[in-house]
Amino acid sequence: MRFNALSVLRQGLAGNTGWRPHWRKPDPKPEYEMLIIGGGGHGLATAYYLAKNHGLTNIAVLEKGYLGGGSIGRNTTIVRANYFLPGNSEFYSHSLKLWEGLEADLNYNVMHSQRGLINIFHSDGQRDAAARRGNAMLAQGDDAILLGREEVREILPYLDYDQARFPIYGGLYHKRGGTARHDAVAWGYARGADQRGVDLIENCEVTGISVDAGRVTGVTTTRGQIKARKVGIVTAGRTSQVAAMAGLRLPIESHILQAFVTEGLKPCLDHVVTFGMGHFYISQSDKGGLVFGGDLDFYASYAARGNLPGVEQVMEAGMTLMPMIGRAKMLRSWGGIMDMTPDGSPIIDRTPIDGLYLDAGWCYGGFKAVPASGWCMAHLMATDQPHPVARRFRLDRFATGDLLDEEGTGSQHNLH
Ligand SMILES: Cc1cc2nc3c(=O)[nH]c(=O)nc-3n(C[C@H](O)[C@H](O)[C@H](O)COP(=O)(O)OP(=O)(O)OC[C@H]3O[C@@H](n4cnc5c(N)ncnc54)[C@H](O)[C@@H]3O)c2cc1C
Repeated sequence: MRFNALSVLRQGLAGNTGWRPHWRKPDPKPEYEMLIIGGGGHGLATAYYLAKNHGLTNIAVLEKGYLGGGSIGRNTTIVRANYFLPGNSEFYSHSLKLWEGLEADLNYNVMHSQRGLINIFHSDGQRDAAARRGNAMLAQGDDAILLGREEVREILPYLDYDQARFPIYGGLYHKRGGTARHDAVAWGYARGADQRGVDLIENCEVTGISVDAGRVTGVTTTRGQIKARKVGIVTAGRTSQVAAMAGLRLPIESHILQAFVTEGLKPCLDHVVTFGMGHFYISQSDKGGLVFGGDLDFYASYAARGNLPGVEQVMEAGMTLMPMIGRAKMLRSWGGIMDMTPDGSPIIDRTPIDGLYLDAGWCYGGFKAVPASGWCMAHLMATDQPHPVARRFRLDRFATGDLLDEEGTGSQHNLH
């Protein structure tokens, strides 16, 4: 079923009785050509592009819970292409271009909204860094505008300018940045993959990876054994645990990141805004809630919920930047598990085991990466060659020292 104005009209007249489920609920077959472990954004996008770009459809996505129940449905939905380092820059640029055509491609409304992102800076040093980053973005072919304090005030009059603890010097404006509805992204990719014949198997936890003479042969799941020639681990926060099933030890730590949403308010915040003197970012959802978050909880854990010191840090940063949000009532908070690498950049690569591939290490920036990650992981699994925009995301960089240290915070997983 395709979505268009006519189908919406027809369904309206028919009392919405003709809509069909977005995807089937097949039982697993004993064997597939390829398996994707993990039905989050990256796993579903990988399956979609394997089918769409490479014509490979004898594929199953194995998800231990329900599709979209992991971090894909828990993030603060920021989409941007403002990375600095060669290696990251071209990848996120590619991703943003895919976002810009995603709804037409998937025939699905993911509510992608390019409302603009402004990174506020508060010192001369931060202005220099923003100018450098902006130049790198322009050199990559993306957009960036360096704003002075009064230009920021015109766009964001509600920030604290006059009695600010950290005076605002200006902002780096990325007009094509914005947000998208996170779970709709999972549903859109799931529907697209299912329509092309991919089996999406929920409630199917992978509990073992079978390896014979250095080559992957399949997996053990809570719904039986499944054979496959190629297997992709795309399990985000659970990557280390799943890779350990194949005897792999990865340079990834899992940390908690929390997010918060207020009660619905009238439209008051029409950009994504980030605070330069603390880790804080905020936007307003189409339902009206202010959606915001901050830093990791600073300890490794697999619990998808955070602790009060994290809450305090985020609230303090929010109040410092934008005191008006103190008037809003916080409605909900939740946590997700982040797969943190030592250099803050991801991995899309083969593993030392033939036929076993890895897409991981998304830290807290993996939502915006979903389209390009799926595109590049599908390319890798189909051709055994890295895609040109993901060629620096090698697993062996942690052994060779050829790191992609975007934030320059060294080997501290919790500082990225
Ligand atoms: C609070 C928060 C805010 C964030 N904000 C942003 C943001 O604003 N912008 C941005 O770009 N990124 C953001 N992120 C990061 C982004 O959400 C993640 O990097 C990204 O979603 C991770 O990839 P995924 O969607 O594939 O993960 P997930 O949705 O977690 O998918 C992994 C799936 O693997 C499944 N799985 C695990 N183990 C097994 C197993 N053994 N067998 C079968 N299935 C298994 C899980 O159940 C899960 O569904 C944020 C994350 C959080 C938590």
